[in-house]
Amino acid sequence: MSQPVQQPVLLRVTDLVVEYPGRAGGPPLRAVDGISFAIPRGRTLGLVGESGCGKSTTGRAILRLTPTARGAVTLDGRDVLALHGGGLFELRRRAQIVFQDPFSSLNPRLTVLSTLAEPLLLHRRAARREVRDRVAVLLEQVGLTPDMMHRYPSQFSGGQRQRIGIARALAVEPELLICDEPVSALDVTVQAQIVNLLRDLQEQLELTLLFIAHDLSVVRHISDEVAVMYLGRIVEHGPGDRVYETPRHPYTQALLSAVPKPDPEAPRDRILLTGDVPSPSDVPSGCRFHPRCPQVFGPCAEVDPPVVDGVACHLMGESQST
Ligand code: SF4
Repeated sequence: MSQPVQQPVLLRVTDLVVEYPGRAGGPPLRAVDGISFAIPRGRTLGLVGESGCGKSTTGRAILRLTPTARGAVTLDGRDVLALHGGGLFELRRRAQIVFQDPFSSLNPRLTVLSTLAEPLLLHRRAARREVRDRVAVLLEQVGLTPDMMHRYPSQFSGGQRQRIGIARALAVEPELLICDEPVSALDVTVQAQIVNLLRDLQEQLELTLLFIAHDLSVVRHISDEVAVMYLGRIVEHGPGDRVYETPRHPYTQALLSAVPKPDPEAPRDRILLTGDVPSPSDVPSGCRFHPRCPQVFGPCAEVDPPVVDGVACHLMGESQST
């Protein structure tokens, strides 16, 4: 059988650290703590974890919307963290973001035409006389109709507003699309439509996607690879099928056990996690998941587990030594 052609890496993140100032002069709060991954051109990485794990901060740091404390980010080989002036302006064209809340991310006083004309003109993707035609094409690309360009955001449903948000991101012909929980504010039936739209657009436009979600089931059908984050770190990273079929990290196993099965009669062994996600200002010693881990054992509370085959868990060392 022929091997799939490996595409060159478009986005590479290396040992990225993002910190926020601590409260009352305390130590900085580390929201992202040394994460690394790479996405080949035209592929999708699903970045998953509970609220507050640092996944959205990661997306914002890649786009320079939040400062980084350490690490490297390259887009097509260019050092993103060193860009300024025209280089940063060009980054904002090549890499776009689709936000979670399509209502607050659209200006209620602008029609769709004005909303989409702005990036087209700013990034010189269309001359003024071409804007209407270009907006009409963008609306059709996201499943809306050109006659909708004169309406305001309040005249659309949540799903339609997210389609407008996607059209606005596509207006500047990006290569990388960071989708930051793009469906979590939508009804379940609409979620599937938006995920399918993003998948179709990715194929047509050869987009590279970083798809951020708190729900593993949402990213399943769109992700080539999946990375699971917990308290600022990636605890498991691997091919999507492998992670879904045989999750190795106890946290991934717990997240997957909560995903509803297509067959309601199928046996379900839900792993209930006790306690809340700790604060990044008070990270547990050793494995940061150990206070909630159902499989905690000997070294877990003291020793930070190394990453073995994409999994940060002492059980990996155990299985290799037996
Ligand atoms: Fe659980 Fe220990 Fe693995 Fe951490 S290292 S996930 S506490 S078994």
